[in-house]
Parts: sequence; C-alpha cells; structure tokens
Amino acid sequence: MARIIGGIGTSHTPTIGFALDQKKQDDPAWAPIFAAYAPLKAWLVEQRPDVVFTIYNDHVTSFFFDHYSAFALGFGPEHSPADEGGGARDLPPMPGHPGLARHIGERLMADEFDLSFFQRRPLDHGCFSPLSLLFDHSQGWPASLIPLAVGVLQNPVPSARRCWKLGRALRRAIESYPEDLKVAIIATGGLSHQVHGERAGFNAPDWDREFLDLLVNDPETLARMSQAELALRGGWESAEVVMWLIMRGALSAQVHVAARDYYLPSMTGIATLLLENLAPAPPVPAAVPAASTPPELMPPASHPFDLETSARAYELNRFLHAMTDPAHRVLFLSDPEASFAGFDLTKTECDLVRRHDWHGLINAGAIFFGLEKLAAVLGLPNAVVYAGMRRESLEAFQASRNAPGALYSVAGKSEA
Ligand code: FE
Repeated sequence: MARIIGGIGTSHTPTIGFALDQKKQDDPAWAPIFAAYAPLKAWLVEQRPDVVFTIYNDHVTSFFFDHYSAFALGFGPEHSPADEGGGARDLPPMPGHPGLARHIGERLMADEFDLSFFQRRPLDHGCFSPLSLLFDHSQGWPASLIPLAVGVLQNPVPSARRCWKLGRALRRAIESYPEDLKVAIIATGGLSHQVHGERAGFNAPDWDREFLDLLVNDPETLARMSQAELALRGGWESAEVVMWLIMRGALSAQVHVAARDYYLPSMTGIATLLLENLAPAPPVPAAVPAASTPPELMPPASHPFDLETSARAYELNRFLHAMTDPAHRVLFLSDPEASFAGFDLTKTECDLVRRHDWHGLINAGAIFFGLEKLAAVLGLPNAVVYAGMRRESLEAFQASRNAPGALYSVAGKSEA
C-alpha cells in the first residue's frame, strides 16, 4: 500500500529559484535560504520518496480567469516549468505519476471533493521554485510529481477548513492505493507577505512564528480562521497558507518537527518545515464509497470518458475540438491531410477521421461531443453519428425513433 512518509511546508516565492539559478550560495543575502533547505534536501535523499504530492498555486501563468478552479489535480505523465514572462527556467521536466494521480482523483471525488483535472499545463514558480531547491535535479528528478493547484487568487477561495478536510481525505486516498509507494506531501506558500496595493511589503514575523506553532500543535485553530483573519494577520497574499493545512491534514495528529527555519530577506517570510508522522495511519474508513463502479456494474457499450481515456485520446479530441475554430474547419474541408498538421494524431486516428468511422472513433477514445462537431462541419445530422456508432444504417436508426423525420446537428449556420 502507498504510505505518507512525512510533510514539508515551504514558501514558494520566486526568490528561491532565483537564488539557485544565480548561484547565490555564498552571497550573505541568500545563503540563509540554502541553509534552511539543506536538512529538507538531506531528508528527501535519505527517505527517497517515490512521489511528491505538491500543493501550490498558479500565479496567472497556466490558469486564467476564463475558467478558474478551486482544486485542480495534475495527472499527466510529466510536468514542465512554465514561461512566466522571460522564458522558462532551465529545469528538466519532472515525471508525473498518472496511476496514483487518477486514483487520488477518483477517491477524492468519491469522498465529495469535486476537483478539476489538468494535463499538459506547465507549472510556475509556485511549484518549481521550492522543488528546484529541495531536489538535486542535475541527473533528472529522483521522484515523481503529482501537483495540486489551489485557486487562491480569485475570490471566493477555498476556506482553511475546506483545505484541512481535503488533507484528511487526501490521506485516505493515498493510503488506499495498492502499490507500495512512499509519498511525501509538500505544501507551498507564504508566509507573511502582501504584493497588492498600498499595503505591499507588509510582513509579520511574530504571526509567522505563531502560525508555524499552531500548524504543528493546534491546526484546528488555523482551520477555523477566515481568509480575512489570515490576511489581516499576515498580509493579503499570505492567506494562501491555507494550502499548508492540506499537508497538515494528511498527517497524524501528533507529528515530530524534524526541521524548521524562517528567513525574511525581502517581501515574503521564507519558512521551511519538515514534519514526520508520530502515529501509524488509521485504517481507511469503510464508509468511504468505492472509488469507481466495478466493471460488471457498468452499463454495457457506454464508453465512460475517464481520465485514462482523456490522456490517451487527448490529441484526437483536441483535433475534434478545433472544429470550433472557423479556420480549422475550412482547412479540414478543403484539405483534410493539411488539417492534421499540428496535431499528434496516430495513423489509425487519421484514417478513422478520413473515413468518418464513428464506431472506430468512439472506440479510439473520441468524446461524442467532438464527433457531433465533426458531423456538423461535414453537414451531417447527429443521427448519422448515432447510427454509425451502432453500426446501423441511418434509416434503421431513425426507424427506432418516435419521429423518424427529426434530424438535427449542432451547426449554427451553414458556411458557404
Ligand atoms: Fe504565491
């Protein structure tokens, strides 16, 4: 079974990655950062976690306000550093762990935490700034990464209590995974800082110390605090420390503080904390519903679109989704082969699209709502897709409807 070997709390200010990239180890202004991370780095070398589940927030880099999520879980096979304006940092992609990530996603959803899921989105300094100092990555990363992005920028944001409860559920999820994996939980953020408005530059070292004490000994008190109270005490952006409660919630009630440090060089209180469980994991409660419906209870011939399908058929569905772009569909109609360029489709997928093989496409992992867009571009009604998936003639399928003459598609208007 997978097990949680400990939790790390760390700030995620870009300063940390900057100090590393600029080789500031011997600079008196920056050396305390490297000293603070040394025991955490040594612990990771010694403990060799297979997976680091890393809780961070994106800073309007890979996620924007056209669709903003409270909790977004990354389940891709690898994770790359993001370009935040001046080019991406020179870090190798970090491998993901799709199997455990999918399991965590299924268990958390079954435990009433409705997540969003992402793949192929680069991760910004919120994740890679601390990771780059926690691990020697010169020969590639020694652990896999599962990132959880928490939406703390656009109000309303998840409450401290919600994050605490998510941590408890996260532990149940991880410790119900059958593979023998060692998992470390890394929470990032803060501590005290504010970057917006006239209060920019606000810090509160006394509150930062109290926060760390409470996180170790009395996290439920923190879980009762509102965003406003956290922001009042630590600065507006410091309210992102709710992410530390996810990590703390995933650990046992009593923890051993193996390392703790704090340094305030400029804008953000850079804190590091290493916690080890003092009690074994409680058994996973039987009340937690099954993660997924057993195959024998699934309705036949239904093609549930799950995370595995989403990853496997990503390019095919991206091609179909692109039918919402007028230029793409004009190109597709005039020169289908040229329209395949820019999409990493397999030969089989190209052939299925060429032949309008609806049965083959649905079996290849296409989502129906992409197929109905393709049909609309081809000037075909949805019923052609239904009949094709059933391997029936259009006439035979329509004969099974109450109104056989009713034909429609999602095309808004025909394009000349
Ligand atoms: Fe942040």
